[in-house]
Amino acid sequence: MSNNLTSTLTTCPYCGVGCGIRAGAAGADIKGDSRHPANFGRLCVKGSALGQTLSAEGRLLLPQVNGADCDWPTAINAVAQGLQQTIAEHGPGSVAMYLSGQLLTEDYYVANKLMKGFIGSPHVDTNSRLCMASTVAGHKRAFGADVVPGCYDDIEQARLFVLVGANMAWNHPVLFQRMQAVLQANPDAKLVVIDPRRSASCEAAQLHLKLRPGTDVLLFNGLLSYLAQQGKLDQRFIHLHTEGFADALVNAQQQAATVAQVASGCDLPVEQVLQFYRCFADEALSLTLFSQGVNQALDGTDKVNAIINCHLATGRIGKPGCGPFSLTGQPNAMGGREVGGLANQLAAHIDYSDNVQQALVGEFWQAANLVQQPGYKAVELFDAIERGEIKAVWIIATNPVVSMPQADKVKAALTRCPLVIVSDIYQHSDTLDVANIKLPALGWSEKDGTVTNSERRISRQRALRPPQGQAKADWQIVCQVARAMGFSQGFNFANAGEIFAEHAALSAYKNNGQRAFNIAALAQLSAEQYHQLAPIQWPVTDSTPQGTARLFADGQFFTASGRAQFIAVQQSGFKQARPQTPLWLNSGRLRDQWHTMTRTGTVAALMQHRPEPFVSLHPADAALYGISHAELVQLSNSYGRVLLRADISDTQRPGELFIPMHWSAQFASQARADVLFAADTDAISGQPALKLSQVALRRFTPAWQALLLTAEPLKPAQLALFSTHYMARLPLGCCQSYRLGLTEALTPPQLLQQLQLTPDLSCLDNQHGQLSGYRAAAIKDNQLKWLLLAGTALPPADQSWLNQLFDGPLSLDNRRQLLSGCAGQGGPVDSSALICSCFNVRSKAICQAIASGADSTAKLGKQLSCGTNCGSCLPELNSLLRQQLSLSNVGA
Ligand code: SF4
Repeated sequence: MSNNLTSTLTTCPYCGVGCGIRAGAAGADIKGDSRHPANFGRLCVKGSALGQTLSAEGRLLLPQVNGADCDWPTAINAVAQGLQQTIAEHGPGSVAMYLSGQLLTEDYYVANKLMKGFIGSPHVDTNSRLCMASTVAGHKRAFGADVVPGCYDDIEQARLFVLVGANMAWNHPVLFQRMQAVLQANPDAKLVVIDPRRSASCEAAQLHLKLRPGTDVLLFNGLLSYLAQQGKLDQRFIHLHTEGFADALVNAQQQAATVAQVASGCDLPVEQVLQFYRCFADEALSLTLFSQGVNQALDGTDKVNAIINCHLATGRIGKPGCGPFSLTGQPNAMGGREVGGLANQLAAHIDYSDNVQQALVGEFWQAANLVQQPGYKAVELFDAIERGEIKAVWIIATNPVVSMPQADKVKAALTRCPLVIVSDIYQHSDTLDVANIKLPALGWSEKDGTVTNSERRISRQRALRPPQGQAKADWQIVCQVARAMGFSQGFNFANAGEIFAEHAALSAYKNNGQRAFNIAALAQLSAEQYHQLAPIQWPVTDSTPQGTARLFADGQFFTASGRAQFIAVQQSGFKQARPQTPLWLNSGRLRDQWHTMTRTGTVAALMQHRPEPFVSLHPADAALYGISHAELVQLSNSYGRVLLRADISDTQRPGELFIPMHWSAQFASQARADVLFAADTDAISGQPALKLSQVALRRFTPAWQALLLTAEPLKPAQLALFSTHYMARLPLGCCQSYRLGLTEALTPPQLLQQLQLTPDLSCLDNQHGQLSGYRAAAIKDNQLKWLLLAGTALPPADQSWLNQLFDGPLSLDNRRQLLSGCAGQGGPVDSSALICSCFNVRSKAICQAIASGADSTAKLGKQLSCGTNCGSCLPELNSLLRQQLSLSNVGA
């Protein structure tokens, strides 16, 4: 939809908040859409930087078969013949698809239709398995359907927010800002954060329960027990609209009879647990928001039901301002589930367990090969590839070599798999690098279709510019392959709108109110109506043509009895860490990065917030292991090892570590977090437990540390040299920066030799007759090509100045100062943490401003501009204010 000739309304491609965007021609001038009900004009730092991700650099522009560029007919035939040959020799179950919550609903729909309806393989799963599967399973157990009951407007109406296993300030920033506005406007409103680490979200919290990891079920069983003791149950709601309450309560009371018992199990002070329970008991307008800290666990589904039990017991569901609220990780995790993206579901939320409903899908599609049994969930799927049962896999818009648990095993399995087809927008990713066939797909700004956000709201993602190179829409690629395989019926769509209409019609097909997902009223949209479609929440039926904000207002659920189900859930026992891997490891997201950094990693400003892979550890552990801040360390276990910088911080509990999930082999030699996580899953949902692993920690002491800046990115063969060393790449805008930690096996001059970089300038530093430092550079036609600064410690350097030297001819002064790494007299370089990515403001400048009297975020914004654009850094500004002002009070 365009409001005038140059502005288009579309949707952000990152998180599940699903913010609306107003974009100028070709993606210029990205702004929040003030009328989109998810964000009302706000965008976080990632959404605000979308315009900087649209370069053609690094894009996959042509199809490739076995390493050679080719045209589309050749690539489509190679895919179709490869799949057909595999099926002919080994049956349809030997082929699989692995999809993504980044796909548009229309892409997802045809992919599922091809595999589950026509090829006849049930093995279609999605990276949503790593993200939302436990919530799906929990919702289905309690409500009889995969539905989020509430809507974002509940945020403005709630007065108690309980945030469980979710760093909303960084991962759902715009919703966090909506919540913060409520907290600021209502002095009685409260935020309780339940998280083993003190995340940025805690800055706005009145209470933080820094509980022992994996004890959420105990905490919420204790809450259920407390609510019963205090007479805070909604007996009428329980009686009229639910089943299973008595069992759930007895079970909760057996495990969590007293607050003291809960506090001891969760490793929390009794007063804190009691404070949380009183808050919840006393505030009917309570919203419990949860995300990956709940889902990514061996008991993830039970955690979800433990939370839902407390809302059912108090009747706080289906009403404004209350309810359990799952914060979806990905932009279209929900849309993918609507079309059957999970291996244990068919399209339109139809389950394999219901034969009559199942037959409807085959009937509607007129599909001769409709699958009859669920397929392999993500971990099982890659295990089947590893043992050679699945021989051809098509991976679309995701990077499992980085994101799957036991990622090294997944990489080895894909390397051995006879046919790996990958559709992506970039030339290189860890997964593309093991593909036989690479298919260039449209990226955000070129795609056209729909996505569904966390509140069931379907929004249009619209194209802003023509495709790059020969890239095609994923739905077009899938349909062309389907037709090349001989499936001439069912894949002749002319545009995404036609696919959406079929998807909507299937949701309505013989529905009779049995299936929650129903968008019947959208099945007859004309091309123009589809183009103009405004954001709308499903169900959208003839009786609810404006959509549905909240479900279950009438107390009717989608279970066989129409009643919600209490589930008696048990806290599993607490494991002791094994002596050889004595530390517990958690993983998660950073404020400025998305998934495996394929897109956000191209934006220099976004890379500055946390420029290197790191591990956060408690000061007590740092002392125990003799580790200093910013020192290099190794984490390892029987699955793999990583090399990272130490970040000593009391945000962690002693004995517990945190690492970001984002770094891939494209950005660091050994920092893929998921190589350290076992492929153990929740038994019900199949979701891997990516929040808890056991590791050993030790210092990694390189013989040399170096900064290598290059005008051109190093080639894969050059990067391979760092496989046993530390390397972290940081795009700076005009050059690439590589921070290196080299073992004794490689001196800096040897490194240059092996990289085939010949210096024009160099100097050696000697101490006591030993080589202690080395600096070298190459200049061609007065343009700086590369610069190496090496020493026994990382030499100081002004990266911002050095970056500019790559942008144009070198002056005589710059040439002279080049090997010193700093301009002028080499004054102090501000390498403190970047806090505000929008205005490039670092913590040192902020602390100086606080010291000189700026005692609020408003004053800091006025003085330095920080926090005045997207607001994503406001929690960090508040944290610095709190720290600095309390320091000055101590000093006073
Ligand atoms: S909160 Fe940020 S990342 Fe999420 S949809 Fe909105 S702008 Fe995009």
